[in-house]
Amino acid sequence: MPFEVPPLPYDYAALEPYIDEQTMHLHHDKHHQAYVDKANAALEGTEYHDSSVEHVLTMLDELPDDKRTVVRNNAGGHANHSLFWEIMSPDGGGEPEGALAEAIDDVFGSLDELKKAVNDGGVNRFGSGWTWLVHDGTGLAVYSTPNQDSPIMQSDEPLLGIDVWEHAYYLKYQNRRPDYLEAWWNVVNWPAVAERYARATTKEHAAAG
Ligand code: MN
Repeated sequence: MPFEVPPLPYDYAALEPYIDEQTMHLHHDKHHQAYVDKANAALEGTEYHDSSVEHVLTMLDELPDDKRTVVRNNAGGHANHSLFWEIMSPDGGGEPEGALAEAIDDVFGSLDELKKAVNDGGVNRFGSGWTWLVHDGTGLAVYSTPNQDSPIMQSDEPLLGIDVWEHAYYLKYQNRRPDYLEAWWNVVNWPAVAERYARATTKEHAAAG
């Protein structure tokens, strides 16, 4: 089945005042849809037309030269945005619990230090891109990527990603990317991030065993 934009799991206005309704409409209905349409058009007629987006992103080297960049950008955009809607919630914010909270304390020292590392990644990303918390097969790591590059392309498991393209924040925050990043943590869906962490660590143990 070709890629599809998943329905937003909450109302467009539900993340107000941190993310405005108009941005959510444009971002979900227009930008994400465009990534899906372009990825589907590029993959049509290839052996990957039915593949999962995760599979496609690990097989970019196998694609013909004239398709590789368009698939990288647009299948990447599809994967990144599908994750983004899922890891935000109108009931978001607060602190993570359980194994994820312990791992964050172990690796970063505290939740505040993690937020600082993720925000710094977003502020320092020149141009457009994403800042990530990932599981890299051995544990937690933070980095940023340009454009729509996904951690999946390097076989890392994205747990949390913040979109720092201007389309994600410009209507409300204009040039104030640091303010958007600061505010974003009020909508983070920690239970969804923890679920992704649990799946990633299960894979890690399976691989080690
Ligand atoms: Mn975006």
